Amino acid sequence: MRKETTTVDTMKTRRATADVERAGGRPRVTVTLPRTSPFSRQMLIPGWDQGRLERARVLIAGAGALGNAVTANLALIGAGHLAVADFDRIDVSNLSRTVLFRRGDEGRSKAAVAAERVRPLMLAGAPIVVPLEGDVVWELGWGVFRRMDLILGCVDSSEARAAIGLPAWALGVPAVFGGLYAHNGGVVTQGVGTGPCVACGFSPAEWDDWSRRYSCDQVRRAAAAEAKVPATQIIASLIGALMVQEGLALLHDGGRNAGTRLFVAAQRPVIERVRLTRKPRCPFHAHIACVEEFPALSNQLTAGELLEALGARGREITVRLGREFLVGCRCKGCGRSLPLRKPRHRTHARDLVCEACRRADRPLVTDPRIASIDALSRGMDAAVLGLSLEALGIPALHLLEVERDGRTGWIELTGDLARVLPGWPGEASPTASP
Ligand SMILES: [Zn+2]
Ligand SMILES: [Zn+2]
Repeated sequence: MRKETTTVDTMKTRRATADVERAGGRPRVTVTLPRTSPFSRQMLIPGWDQGRLERARVLIAGAGALGNAVTANLALIGAGHLAVADFDRIDVSNLSRTVLFRRGDEGRSKAAVAAERVRPLMLAGAPIVVPLEGDVVWELGWGVFRRMDLILGCVDSSEARAAIGLPAWALGVPAVFGGLYAHNGGVVTQGVGTGPCVACGFSPAEWDDWSRRYSCDQVRRAAAAEAKVPATQIIASLIGALMVQEGLALLHDGGRNAGTRLFVAAQRPVIERVRLTRKPRCPFHAHIACVEEFPALSNQLTAGELLEALGARGREITVRLGREFLVGCRCKGCGRSLPLRKPRHRTHARDLVCEACRRADRPLVTDPRIASIDALSRGMDAAVLGLSLEALGIPALHLLEVERDGRTGWIELTGDLARVLPGWPGEASPTASP
């Protein structure tokens, strides 16, 4: 039996009582609301914490159909701080599934337009919304992740899900992922602590998709990176709403649903929750125990300047890039050695064409003909040490693993903070004790 009563008086403030009786017996919840609050209805929900939502810092990774749906939902329920990340530009085919975009937006940045349009919809007290224009797989610094209370992965590919899930899991930030296919969809709530990550829930097809992106030609396939998933606004708003619902549960109760997947078949209709199991051999379970912040460091410094700033002269120091930088390679056709000087993730198929013989014969797969680096140390090629971290493929506000005198730890390019997340509130975690 369930009975709900609401009493309303005519004073300046309204006293509302939600009295829910159940077999288990739930406490009576009484909230006093200013009459003018846009949130008065949702605050009648037992256990609802509007203050928690207003303080919440949420990253929406991907501003397509799902990203639009979750961003609009979060704005209306009063989330106070949103960061919207996407590298892509608006295409006319997006307009039927994106409530924040309209005709005339074609060609503009998805992240910038989503942030611009959602700002007036945000009902929290002093809302902040920040667009982050860049590829969520490679160009989103992990310092962004550690300044979030919740991450919503609104991306199509298993590569992007793994790339978002990895730092979220490593830094202990709760994350929810949505996926769409025709009239069906799914929502994965990643575990925190020792629970399963999003990749532990990958199907064999998703693992195939992930590994294919890392074999083949090993270069960025310009437009092919964006999967064309059949979907409608209907299923996008349904899955987006469920993602926000799962996110709210994470913010309110700390993760009862963590490590689960919701299956949604909208035509039958059915929604089913299954628990994911942690796969011991899953490659995405690194843990970052603490991060040392360096306000003097940014990705605008050169590699040489970074090494100088981190260690006194003569100390052994290695900075891992966490990615590969291609220095040069020898053409299979004419045999000439040619410089390349590009991070692998920014290398496109057109870079394989040899300037000398015009054949597309520059091999970029692991090959003795290619020179690449994945770490920085003193005594490297001066041309590499003179490149900025940005040119080496390191995003602003990123975290780097540093080995000094045999000890390994994580540092942050904290000098980029004001540029990447202007006005962003709150502490980051985990932070090294001074
Ligand atoms: Zn995993
Ligand atoms: Zn050649």
